Amino acid sequence: MNIGFIGTGTMGQPMLANLLKKNFAVVAYDVVPAALAAAVKLGATGAASVAEVARRSDLLISMLPSSSHVESVYLGAGSVLESAAPGRLCVDMSTIDPGVSRRVAAALAQRQVRFLDAPVSGGVPGATDGTLAIMVGGDARDLEEARPALSAMGTNVIHVGAVGSGEAAKICNNLIAGVAAVAVSEAFRIAEGFGVDPKVLTDVISKSSGNTWVMQQAHPVPGLVARAASSRDYAPGFMTDLMAKDLGLAVNAARELRVPVVVATAAQQVLRLASSHGLGRKDFTAVYTFIKPSSDQAPV
Ligand code: NAD
Repeated sequence: MNIGFIGTGTMGQPMLANLLKKNFAVVAYDVVPAALAAAVKLGATGAASVAEVARRSDLLISMLPSSSHVESVYLGAGSVLESAAPGRLCVDMSTIDPGVSRRVAAALAQRQVRFLDAPVSGGVPGATDGTLAIMVGGDARDLEEARPALSAMGTNVIHVGAVGSGEAAKICNNLIAGVAAVAVSEAFRIAEGFGVDPKVLTDVISKSSGNTWVMQQAHPVPGLVARAASSRDYAPGFMTDLMAKDLGLAVNAARELRVPVVVATAAQQVLRLASSHGLGRKDFTAVYTFIKPSSDQAPV
């Protein structure tokens, strides 16, 4: 099976490497020449355009930054819509607005091109080890067709429901993780103010009701979890800008659904502020370095 891969960036490269390891032939394209060159170095065949990838692949995978990139690759000039033969299956693994996934799927369906949304969790380590969690929206038969390729990149491939529901699951997950990063950072700053050893507090919370994945696996306080980004000066990991984008997707979805969201909105704003103070390309847990005691001595 020939796999087309569009978007060979931070996540795309290690995902593509795992497809090659499982003996899939991959034809790749990225607008950034260095990203495409890296994919070719791994063993993919380089293509000159989205259209060429769409024409040369049986199954097309995309891993792009955000909704606008996905719309342009699938529906813009020289897009998948214009180039893919009827019957082709496309799998978009980017994290985007579920509404955009639905619109893209509906437009492709007019030309008998099939579409799954299949965003991932697990970050660069999961992409490298081939252990991503992959949450899939779309037709169950299409998922079975894509499953061998998806299983080369992830260990948990979960069918969530109709098209768009993979994205819905992903943004709900990241809403919780993003809020938790801010909450853990605030809690540890308060404890520090009382002179509580963060190691002891971690021990207490891990045995109590505040326990959370963010503290266990991605502790915002440096030096407590060896593999956490905080222990390597917050090198991502998962960038603050991407987490702020995902919280934005959740907040927008909530607005459209008329669901009141207060905590997600607040966490998104804290991450945006951290980004505007130079932390955008650091890991999202670097928000801890942004939440600091004020020098103001006045009582609050
Ligand atoms: P990235 O920016 O490193 O890679 C995206 C690639 O897409 C880039 O190389 C870019 O040049 C390419 N691209 C953009 N427009 C294009 C176009 N029109 N045609 C071809 N290529 C194009 O981003 P990433 O970190 O790999 O993330 C990709 C997606 O995965 C995002 O939606 C992100 O939210 C999600 N995600 C990322 C992580 C992570 O840890 N980085 C984890 C889970 C999910």
